Amino acid sequence: MRIGIIGGTFNPIHYGHLFIASEAKQSFDLDRVIFVPCHQPPHKGDSELAGGDDRYRMVLLAVESNPDFVVSSAELDRGGKSYSIETVDEFQEKYGADSRIYFIIGMDSLNELSTWKDIKKLVGKCRFIVAVRPNWERERSPWDEVCHLMEIPGLEISSTDIRNRVKSGRSIKYLLPEVVEEYIYDHRLYKKETSTL
Ligand code: ATP
Repeated sequence: MRIGIIGGTFNPIHYGHLFIASEAKQSFDLDRVIFVPCHQPPHKGDSELAGGDDRYRMVLLAVESNPDFVVSSAELDRGGKSYSIETVDEFQEKYGADSRIYFIIGMDSLNELSTWKDIKKLVGKCRFIVAVRPNWERERSPWDEVCHLMEIPGLEISSTDIRNRVKSGRSIKYLLPEVVEEYIYDHRLYKKETSTL
C-alpha cells in the first residue's frame, strides 16, 4: 500500500488542503490519503483553535464524496501535543511494514521541517511530498533526499483568512466545500476569539 498522510490543524479544512491531497494521490499513485487533524499543534498558538470534534467533523464532511480520502482521529485520540513521528509509527504498524508512507505538506511546512520532533528519525520512516508553486526558487535543505516536489498552481487560501472573514462577516464561499461552510455557520465557529481545546 502507498499511503498519503496530510496532517494539519484544519481550522477549518479548505480547498488548498483538498487540492494538494488530490494532486498527491494522482501524481504519486497513492492508494489512499488519510487526513489527520491534530490535537494540539506543536508550533502554533491555540487561541483561535476550534474544538477537535468540530475540526474532525468538518474534515469528515469535506472528504465524504471522495472514496480515496479518509479521516483519522489518531492525534485527537492521543491528546496532548501532536507529533508526526508518533502518527507515522501508528500508521506503519496499522498498515504493515510493506506499506510506504508519504507525508503531504505545503511549502510553509517544508521551511519548518527542521523544528519537527525527531525529524532525523522521521525522514527514515517516510517520504515527503511537498506542494510547491511552479518555478519556485528552491533553496537547498537538509531534507532534499526525502522530499519529492509536486508543482501545483498556487492557491492562496488559508484557514487564517477564512477565520478572519467569518469574524468580520465576509463571504467564505468558493474557498471551502459548501458542507463545511454550512457547518461553520450552524455551529457559530470563528465568530470570536476562543479556544475550545
Ligand atoms: P492557518 O492559516 O491556520 O495557519 P493553514 O491554512 O496553513 O492554516 P494547516 O491546517 O496548518 O492550514 O495546513 C496543513 C497543511 O496544508 C500544511 O502542510 C500546509 O502547508 C498545507 N497547506 C495549507 N494551505 C495550503 C494551500 N493553500 N496550498 C498548499 N498547501 C497548503
